Amino acid sequence: MSIEITTQQKRFWSPLVRELEPYVPGEQPKIQDLLKLNTNENPYPPSPKVVEAVQSVIANQADVLKLYPDPDANVLKQAIAKQQGVAVGNVFVGNGSDEVLAHIFKAFFVQDKPLLYPDISYSFYPVYSQFFGLNTIEVPLTDTFEIDVEDYRQANGGLNGGIIITNPNAPTGRAIDIEQIKQLLNDHPDSVVVIDEAYVDFGAESAVSLVAEFENLVVCQTTSKSRSLAGLRVGYAIAQPHLITALESVKNSFNSYPIDRFALACAVASFEDQPYFEAQCEKVIASREQLIAEMQMLDFKVLPSKANFIFATHGTVSAAPIAQKLREQGVIVRYFNRPRIDNYLRITVGTDEQNQRLIDSLKTFL
Ligand SMILES: *Cc1c(COP(=O)(O)O)cnc(C)c1O
Repeated sequence: MSIEITTQQKRFWSPLVRELEPYVPGEQPKIQDLLKLNTNENPYPPSPKVVEAVQSVIANQADVLKLYPDPDANVLKQAIAKQQGVAVGNVFVGNGSDEVLAHIFKAFFVQDKPLLYPDISYSFYPVYSQFFGLNTIEVPLTDTFEIDVEDYRQANGGLNGGIIITNPNAPTGRAIDIEQIKQLLNDHPDSVVVIDEAYVDFGAESAVSLVAEFENLVVCQTTSKSRSLAGLRVGYAIAQPHLITALESVKNSFNSYPIDRFALACAVASFEDQPYFEAQCEKVIASREQLIAEMQMLDFKVLPSKANFIFATHGTVSAAPIAQKLREQGVIVRYFNRPRIDNYLRITVGTDEQNQRLIDSLKTFL
């Protein structure tokens, strides 16, 4: 529901708020029997250990809800550090990686020189850039929708106030390898380079292994996709302590207690159940490859994907009407009406059964 607001009423708004163009998340419609393949959520439930953790908070700790949670989220940082093979001092946590990214923008990217990111990438970057008043340069992906790190060296004569890329990229699903990330870090020793790894667990190489070597690297990850915890809101960043300290300063100037007691318990339980996590990721990867093969048989061109979604264009039929016809059958996929990608669909990988329903729906009109 949108309400009409008069210019008269808007006089109360700050000039910044009048200009904002907020991020619009993929819709969450409440239709029965809906197949939601539009927001890259995991089709599988979180680890059973997470469910136990919720129950144990209710059973044993209901009384402690009157108390603030640990502002440092220490147990969670320890669990993440252990799973990632880094020290606790390398870990920053927030309410979803969107919040972590907000603090990253404030801590590192509010600079005179422009922030660089790909022209096709996570659409929150331009939103935060506007919010924090940044100059930005969108660096075009190649014709095959790949990131070429050389383009970042050329951009603005080599001058920038930071770089952020998603790896694997969204909505393309394409990943760059660790050597290219190293190149980027070496090319820009005076800029913070952020690698947003929201989808890295579905087959790409993580840059966490480079954190010890590079003082300008921040890696950002989330429990929302590969750990099936989008509803929990826990994200984190891994970097050297001098960068973590800057993030903590921003956080403690904004909201000192971001992770609540439920989220702490559930996220810790998830990180402690590595076998479940790995098994779910492998299932999604196997289903993705099968889905790609079936889509190709229906004359779709599908970009190689290292994520839990695919990015596809059809040989003869336009993307928008395909999305519309799928919707009429209760299957929701993501369509971006944006230059370069307006003939593509981004489709979240579901369970094999869900993917089959998508294929069956496509076959009714293709
Ligand atoms: C989903 C996503 C995020 C945000 O994840 P949350 O942790 O749920 O806030 C960040 N970056 C990219 C590229 C994403 O796709």
